[in-house]
Amino acid sequence: DQSANATNEAKKVRIDNLHCVYTYCLNNVDCRRTLLLEYFGEQYLSSQCKKYIATRCDNCCSVAQTKLIDFTILTKHIISLVDQLTKKLRSTTINQVIDILKGSKQKTIKDAGYDKLEQFNIAEEVSRINLERLLSKLILDGYLHQDISINDTYGTATAYIRVGKINTFPSPITLSVCLKKENPDVSSTISNNSIHNRLVDACLIKLKDELKLISSEYNIKYSTILSETALKQMALTMPRTKQEMLRKTVEMTTIKYDMYKLDRLLSITCLFGSKLDEEKREDLISGGLKRKREATTTTTTTTTSSYFQDKTNSNIKKKK
Ligand SMILES: [Zn+2]
Repeated sequence: DQSANATNEAKKVRIDNLHCVYTYCLNNVDCRRTLLLEYFGEQYLSSQCKKYIATRCDNCCSVAQTKLIDFTILTKHIISLVDQLTKKLRSTTINQVIDILKGSKQKTIKDAGYDKLEQFNIAEEVSRINLERLLSKLILDGYLHQDISINDTYGTATAYIRVGKINTFPSPITLSVCLKKENPDVSSTISNNSIHNRLVDACLIKLKDELKLISSEYNIKYSTILSETALKQMALTMPRTKQEMLRKTVEMTTIKYDMYKLDRLLSITCLFGSKLDEEKREDLISGGLKRKREATTTTTTTTTSSYFQDKTNSNIKKKK
């Protein structure tokens, strides 16, 4: 059926886009301006961004030196691991794969016998965020495939992965990683805070894209359905259920939600919300030390929020 194919194709493009933005959020190395303009198909040299200290992006501020690392061998191990796990369990998640690669001592890993796998603990020296970036890249490049399942009742989004269609390596799989930080003590707390900001910003971009798409199907302007303010509120609160979305977003009504099928927006807030939960969980695991440091450096972190925010917003922040 041709129309079903068309909607599937549109859905795939949307998920690819969403993944692109998520990959952008995870990237704590490359120049934001370069990445952002690349997303819009333009070129920008990071040296331009580094030129003026006052207007450098957060990554150019925190990263002093980067190195391109070849992850082709690790990639082959990852594909083989995902293949084994999906054959055994039918589905696996990014977190589970990373836990095995990092040699996690969790009871569930040991009980399932994953500590006996060849891939157990082979990426011990690779940081968790770089593994997430690598897996994200492998999904974008088609080596792995991601299915997102959303549970409207519980408001959870789970991303399952399996082996993708691509399995040849015409060129090596590389990732730029940070070799030297500008100021290690400050930048580690900044990167945590800005992952949160970036997720909110990225969520807003995706919400707007999706709303524009929805409104174009009705031949109306997107602001007729929801205003910029309402979208910002939605990105900030990341509602997980229809009820929550109705309660937490001004201008949102049941009639609007049903008429324009705004569950399409809900699937975006659910996904980003679950990513945010993962980040929070990571924070809890890494313990009180980090939080203590965050408390002492809040004055520096508030000024580092990304440049997606409009001027009115940043003025409010400065007044604080
Ligand atoms: Zn930059």
